Amino acid sequence: MKIAVLPGDGIGTEIVEQAVRVLNALDLKLEMETALVGGAAYDAHGHPLPEATLKLAKEADAVLFGAVGDWKYDTLDRPLRPEQAILGLRKNLGLFANFRPAICYEQLVGASSLKPELVAGLDILIIRELTGDIYFGQPRGRRVSPDGHFPGAEEAFDTMRYSRPEIERIARVAFEAARKRNKRVTSVDKANVLETFQLWKDVVTEIGKEYPDVALDHMYVDNAAMQLVKAPKKFDVVVTGNMFGDILSDAAAMLTGSIGMLPSASLNSSNQGLYEPSHGSAPDIAGQGVANPLATILSAAMMLRFSLNQVAAADRIEAAVQKVLAQGLRTPDIYSEGTTKVGTREMGDAVLKALG
Ligand code: NAD
Repeated sequence: MKIAVLPGDGIGTEIVEQAVRVLNALDLKLEMETALVGGAAYDAHGHPLPEATLKLAKEADAVLFGAVGDWKYDTLDRPLRPEQAILGLRKNLGLFANFRPAICYEQLVGASSLKPELVAGLDILIIRELTGDIYFGQPRGRRVSPDGHFPGAEEAFDTMRYSRPEIERIARVAFEAARKRNKRVTSVDKANVLETFQLWKDVVTEIGKEYPDVALDHMYVDNAAMQLVKAPKKFDVVVTGNMFGDILSDAAAMLTGSIGMLPSASLNSSNQGLYEPSHGSAPDIAGQGVANPLATILSAAMMLRFSLNQVAAADRIEAAVQKVLAQGLRTPDIYSEGTTKVGTREMGDAVLKALG
């Protein structure tokens, strides 16, 4: 089992170090190789996703990714910015299915922005299509408007598009995932206004017939946003397009208290995956040893579960994280009175100890 370890920038290096320590403690035959990505790769090789890094990622069974980005790269041409590395990896590895679980741990209920009764026991999974939609659709650009409300004015445009096969494969991913959970899928669309999402709804409905044991319902994205903050526990698996998923998954993240707790997985059709925390490189706290490593450690658990088929080891990591939370250990982002504040490495130490 070969893992490409790409720590990246900012807190990426600090948090990935803790996840690697945890993986090394599991007595699995894991071959881990580290490479530069993002701003660190740009500084060393002039490109955020050097050929050697991409090759390593392609050849690995899974990629463990930290985070990329720093304000100091904001003036670079767009193709050279650190964030392009993650887009390049998604595209080159065909990572079309993004899994973002939003779990509210009992011990962190108070950290949520919603009332405890709304989030206690929350366990939902947002599945976002990751390689299509308006983020990738062509044509796109800026021009002098040939028509529209203001002919002759400068305008910009993007194209929302999805093909039937793209929708079929993400729908199947969602139904399969629901089969392993509470057997409910909510497909989020905007079929009342957009042709793209009428096709989405039609295709998801068709694929749903292959899964009679899974209940399917459809919800418009505006209502889904409202329901997520009104009654989030009524969801099980939510499947949606790239842009709606981008927005809804961040909203769901905040229900759980801290972005520092949320893992994610992006998978292709061979179950090869890229695993990363849902947050960025947090330049504001980088180098201070205070970043929460739990999202990355939980991402490593997802990697074991989804790409490496090591379910028992994944369970072991997740149980260890629960245990350290129950012990009252908290990095500053999840700290509250009466708990014990620890740094990044101490949190890693505690998870290692809790593995037993
Ligand atoms: P961010 O997620 O890095 O930080 C947002 C806030 O959350 C900050 O206050 C930060 O300190 C805090 N935070 C994030 N992770 C934390 C953790 N593990 N523990 C404690 N606190 C944590 O988002 P941002 O500030 O908007 O972006 C910073 C950089 O990260 C930018 O360059 C952005 O482009 C990049 N980014 C990268 C990814 C990625 O690599 N996939 C994702 C999002 C943002």
